[in-house]
Amino acid sequence: MFDELGEKLDGALKKLRQRGVLTEPMVKDGLREVRRVLLEADVNFKVTRDFLGRVQNRALGEETLRAVSPGQQVVKIVHDELAQLFGEARPTVEETPSGLNVVLIVGLQGAGKTTTAAKLARRFARDGKRPMLAACDLQRPAAIEQLQTLGGKIGIEVFKGEFGGDPVATALAARKHAVASNYSVLVVDTAGRLQIDKTLMEELTRIREALEPHEILLVADAMTGQEAVTIAQGFEDALGLTGIVMSKMDGDARGGAALSMRSVTGCPIKFLGVGEGIDDLDQADPTRLAGRILQMGDVVGLVERAQVAVDEAQQAQLQKQMISGRFTLEDFLAAMSQIQRMGPLDQLMKLIPGAKRIKIPAANMDPKRFKHVEAIILSMTPQERQDPKILNGSRRARIAKGSGRSVAEVNRLLKQFKQMQKLMKQMRGMIGGSGLG
Ligand code: GDP
Repeated sequence: MFDELGEKLDGALKKLRQRGVLTEPMVKDGLREVRRVLLEADVNFKVTRDFLGRVQNRALGEETLRAVSPGQQVVKIVHDELAQLFGEARPTVEETPSGLNVVLIVGLQGAGKTTTAAKLARRFARDGKRPMLAACDLQRPAAIEQLQTLGGKIGIEVFKGEFGGDPVATALAARKHAVASNYSVLVVDTAGRLQIDKTLMEELTRIREALEPHEILLVADAMTGQEAVTIAQGFEDALGLTGIVMSKMDGDARGGAALSMRSVTGCPIKFLGVGEGIDDLDQADPTRLAGRILQMGDVVGLVERAQVAVDEAQQAQLQKQMISGRFTLEDFLAAMSQIQRMGPLDQLMKLIPGAKRIKIPAANMDPKRFKHVEAIILSMTPQERQDPKILNGSRRARIAKGSGRSVAEVNRLLKQFKQMQKLMKQMRGMIGGSGLG
């Protein structure tokens, strides 16, 4: 969702970045552009004004004007202040040293509460915690079922109340069960409404008072733009929140809501929902978010995702290839299978600086196609896999026949392989450049 905003900000800052010397009018001129971009992206008016005030103060400071590269310095200031907008980095979920951590999930209907509850539980399990889910949205039978299905998929126990039952009693029973079963985190899904209303807030307040959760996370739908900020303010006023999960960040919302959320409500964004999949939940790190907006690429995010999907031995191997620059079709096959597990390639590509320029058609990311790719590569001789340059017309025809695919498909794969090689080179540069290698 930050793509368009990022591109426009980049454009607005371009002139400043290229200048050797900066004067006050130049800075003001550049920041006027930034202002336009932020407002267009639906960032709250007051937030924009305060933001630019801070940037301008710092940008016109002596330090900047005397810097070796004043333009870059201004970009850095914008970046830092963007990070400030998201709030300071904090532990994403508060931990109690012993006993059970209770996380209450609240939000309007359809915001993504149930999905987020499951995603969070999954994340806790991955971090070595022992999570349990509780279905306390007892108004919609579908919500209970949905959480049960999700819990079943990820192997996490779901404690459910009776349809139409009392959510407070259910929440308390869930907690009792979680303590007795030695769980370390309890994630409680609650009911939503189409709009904030008194009955809902009363129900949630009663649950909060009974459970005394360590975290109250609001799931806010990024696609609703500034409306999401207003809703968050309502929940904050009525309940007091410890954090916000912005869901549907993968959609084409303009980004302003995410940028305004912290300043308007005082609550930090802790997680971002980036898809419907169970692993599509990113931790919201202010610096990284700012980096993504300013098109610096999100190196840490990429590494984090890759770590989840790739086992260590494979990863070491892949890294070696990336660093050495020797990348064969066999590695390509291995990488493809790893990427299948990492999630949609287009999402990953967004995290790599400059990767936007490499076109990988959407169809190539279809899991079904992976089988075809595999068949084609397995129909090659070891020598061909090591050195695809020797693949002339007759070899390609033989491979097509052997794999039951068309020559056109073989050609397409080889082209894709070349692009992947290019991508590897780029990633190599990135790792070298950031000192991670
Ligand atoms: P609830 O009513 O608040 O519990 O919302 P649900 O969890 O049922 O989610 C509503 C819809 O939004 C479902 O179709 C989810 O798959 C979808 N959804 C939730 N989070 C995300 C997200 O981060 N990205 C996308 N694209 N869809 C999401």
